[in-house]
Amino acid sequence: MNLNSIFHETMPKIWEDYEPRESQITLSSKIQELLQGSGVLLAEAGTGVGKSLSYLLPAALYSLESGSTVVVSTETKALQDQLLFKDIPLLEKILNQKIKAERALGASNYICKRKWKIAEDTGNFGTEMISQIDNFQEWLSETQTGIKTEYNGYASSEFWSKVTREADNCLGKSCKNFSHSYYFLEKEKWKKANILIVNHYLLASHIAGDFRILPNFDKIIIDEAHNFPEIVGRSFRSEITYDYISKQLSFLYSKENKQSLIQKMGSPENLVDALDEAKESLIKLYSRISSELGLNLYGSVRIKKPLLLDKGDFEISLARIVNLFIDKSTKYSKESENNLEKEIALGLETGISRFRGLIDFFAELRNRKNENLVYWSEPPNFKEKDKFLKLCSEPINVDEIIAEIFIPKMESVIFTSATISSPKGDFNYFEDQIGFKQVERLELDSPFNFQKQSLLFIPKNIEDPSNEERYLEDIFVWIKFLIELTEGNTFVLFTSNKSLKKIHEKLDKESNYPIISQLSQGAIQAKQLYLETDHAVLLGVSSFWQGIDIKGDRLKSVIITKLPFQVPSEPVLETKIEKMKEKNINAFAKVQLPRAGLLLKQGYGRLIRSISDTGIVSILDPRIYTKSYGKTLLQTLPKGVLPETDPRVLLDKYNNLPKI
Ligand code: SF4
Repeated sequence: MNLNSIFHETMPKIWEDYEPRESQITLSSKIQELLQGSGVLLAEAGTGVGKSLSYLLPAALYSLESGSTVVVSTETKALQDQLLFKDIPLLEKILNQKIKAERALGASNYICKRKWKIAEDTGNFGTEMISQIDNFQEWLSETQTGIKTEYNGYASSEFWSKVTREADNCLGKSCKNFSHSYYFLEKEKWKKANILIVNHYLLASHIAGDFRILPNFDKIIIDEAHNFPEIVGRSFRSEITYDYISKQLSFLYSKENKQSLIQKMGSPENLVDALDEAKESLIKLYSRISSELGLNLYGSVRIKKPLLLDKGDFEISLARIVNLFIDKSTKYSKESENNLEKEIALGLETGISRFRGLIDFFAELRNRKNENLVYWSEPPNFKEKDKFLKLCSEPINVDEIIAEIFIPKMESVIFTSATISSPKGDFNYFEDQIGFKQVERLELDSPFNFQKQSLLFIPKNIEDPSNEERYLEDIFVWIKFLIELTEGNTFVLFTSNKSLKKIHEKLDKESNYPIISQLSQGAIQAKQLYLETDHAVLLGVSSFWQGIDIKGDRLKSVIITKLPFQVPSEPVLETKIEKMKEKNINAFAKVQLPRAGLLLKQGYGRLIRSISDTGIVSILDPRIYTKSYGKTLLQTLPKGVLPETDPRVLLDKYNNLPKI
């Protein structure tokens, strides 16, 4: 089917107000060319181009013709819902045929029938679940998919961990539930899909897991691609807590837990001794960690040098268990008809792989041989009653992972987003992030008239953010003025929780408009409340800078309090900066500035979501004027929108914004 005739003839018949747009047709044709051939495309398409239909159409055509699946990866669930419930049904009308579209979720989203049976037999649901369990059982008897988010009742996170699938604790084909396992039934559907929708986390786990999670595919469209490299990094991250290790050891053996693996094996003395010894070593290890790393109550602290710790005693105790497990595992088989034997065989296998992971983690923390790994500590999670620091590691060579492991496995990769280039038209930052330069680039401007629809307000005479107290006083005055100007209907975007809390306290006392904070409500609840409340003001941090789509008069003003530079002491960034300095590369120009530009563009993009939206974007950071990089950052914003500095002129212009 010819794309041109679809856009020019079919779509206007199906979609009443549809008018063919050159930018949409250009994007769609380019994607079709890539899917039919091969290569890597970076396609920046401003809001309103109609990006999702531009790629779904050629993806569906390609799949229907070739019989192979095209994968679409997104960052947000909101976009997945739009694709599944709005765009694909429309596509079916356009093509006049059924498109098989499926959404794949990560393993832990599915109920594991085997684990549920164990929990049910032992009645070990956790105290919080006692009053809820009938509800849950009723849902379980009806669900076709076993997807936990479809359960509307309450379930504690501990309960979910007892009944959902774990990749390394699954019997697979050896499970007697295999033929009706929720997860594997879903996987069968994924294989048959024309379009398989995944999120970036699952895609990254698929890459990290040697491409074994999703069915085979070699054509992929990555939408909301600007955050993909960072998400890949996070998926390769290890996060270890005392509580996690302690639970692993207790799962294997504790006197109270009659269902522990070792007790199922008849409590062999050498294993009981080895487990007891490991528990003691763990306590010693964490007391060494506390004394070597000190107290960290506020954020991430990079661990730059090898640690002495317990000189490897804990690793030795784990290695002893691993060896005993390997020895014992010859006696048990996952293929056995006997359920107990199956459970023991799987438990041994899981234990071996998890303990090997822990041995590697701590050995590297003591020796620091791998230059690609960054280690850091985070404060204990007091809500989870953790007493000790959380330890984390993450690779810094994400670009190599994408360029050398992921892209070569694919025939066609389309990275698309409203924000890929920074400054405008310059794709170098993103190319560095994916480590790949042999790309085709396409840049399509938004069809919205930002000059007419939006005002940019950047007042002068604000204190530099380095003088935090004065700066917060100054911006508070402007925030209050701007909220009154648009009668609420405002997003105030912060780069730190601390500033948000301070401004929140003051606004609570001095503003008449309903103030909703992401920190008090959580992101989902805060957005919901904002949409339900007239004239509301939402104070948000990270997630509200991007991916939120509110059209119409509900959002008339976006206030960017501070330029969104990533904290340079953030461990992964700090390490990258150091490595760049060693190579005489200007890390600020190469990484920090373009990244801030992308986020600024995302923040600006919250305001104008349709042809009829109007409003004000304000930037309350004087560095736009006082620092040389200010001009570069302004260049990332929509062309032709000039900053206004005078509040009286702003008031006048705001009152004269078109009523479209
Ligand atoms: S196949 Fe795996 S996920 Fe499915 S029920 Fe069995 S153990 Fe659980």
